[in-house]
Amino acid sequence: MGLVAEQMAFGPRPPGTNASQATATWIATTLEESGWTVEVHPVEYRGVVLHNVVGRLGSSGKGPLILATHYDTRPRADRDPVDPDAQVPGANDGASGVAVLLELARVLPERLAGQEVWLVFFDGEDSGGLDGWEWHAGASTFAAQLTAIPQAVVVVDMVGDADLQLPVERNSDPALVKEIWDVAERLGAGAFVQEPGASIIDDHRPFVDMGIPAVLIIDLDYAYWHTAADTLDKVSAESLAQVGRVLEAWLLSRR
Ligand SMILES: [Zn+2]
Repeated sequence: MGLVAEQMAFGPRPPGTNASQATATWIATTLEESGWTVEVHPVEYRGVVLHNVVGRLGSSGKGPLILATHYDTRPRADRDPVDPDAQVPGANDGASGVAVLLELARVLPERLAGQEVWLVFFDGEDSGGLDGWEWHAGASTFAAQLTAIPQAVVVVDMVGDADLQLPVERNSDPALVKEIWDVAERLGAGAFVQEPGASIIDDHRPFVDMGIPAVLIIDLDYAYWHTAADTLDKVSAESLAQVGRVLEAWLLSRR
């Protein structure tokens, strides 16, 4: 929750803003403090410079396991019934996934052995459908410039809702889904429901399109989605912890 609050203190974080730049720098610094090797990849998209932040740890010779999320927030709250021109604060839609990955960055270094893990923080996911932007603009450029073929890509997005429900997103790789949802069942992580959910365009799609096993973990059933009310009080520490523990156990199960 502290990591969510730190992001909220930057204000809304759309691509190309000072708040976005500050968030990217904070993510990079936090990763480095936990012992990760960090690169920031700038790429121009529709006149804006996007910055994907990548933390790397370990080597395996088998290709990395990638955990990813987006850190940008939606520039307009187009589902807000009162103020659709407001900026989305992005406590759940943005900050929740970053918080889970940064907490994993802190605890993983002493637990991984013989594994290569990349933590990837995408810019430019959440301007989709606004001003001609596509979804996953940052992830698309990252996927197109991959320097190694990942064994798996697991994307988390909107994982902070108190009433967390994580059905299986329909474009996700079935074998990888089974691995992760089975780990969740073993841990008693009840938010992971082994039932079909929606088909969703998110940062996993460029990898799916390349034939790389990829999964999206998301709870899109969130009343404050793309509204000005996506604020810190809507985020649950228990939900963040549940997702983080499942991802940690899944990574260790891949040793
Ligand atoms: Zn969104």
